Amino acid sequence: MNADERTIFKKIIDREISADIVYEDEHCLAFRDIAPQAPTHVLLIPKRELRSMDDVTDSERELLGHMMAVISQLARDLGISEGYRVVTNCGAGAGQEVNHLHFHILAGRKMQWPPG
Ligand code: AMP
Repeated sequence: MNADERTIFKKIIDREISADIVYEDEHCLAFRDIAPQAPTHVLLIPKRELRSMDDVTDSERELLGHMMAVISQLARDLGISEGYRVVTNCGAGAGQEVNHLHFHILAGRKMQWPPG
């Protein structure tokens, strides 16, 4: 892939852009959102370059299962287990701005339902 086609999240993985990283392993990376929408707002991304949930197939079963377990552990580590929301925006119509799959982990304020 051409260097210019890489998303900002890929550049964070490659350490070309700094981020406030809260968790990393060989498969995924979590860092604080630069424009937090709640007192705690962390993004969890796979290191594999998947553009969105739309790219997910059964081949990603292990990766996605692992990431769900990481979210659960992160919630404990961040002290938000009593109430948090996990969101992924898929496609421009859902408000996706960065075309690298990411899970928003939001906590620390009352959440509304239905979401906007
Ligand atoms: P989405 O709209 O679902 O694609 O979410 C993209 C998120 O990435 C937004 O919440 C942005 O605030 C966040 N974001 C964009 N650039 C950065 C960055 N350099 N570091 C951390 N978060 C970022």
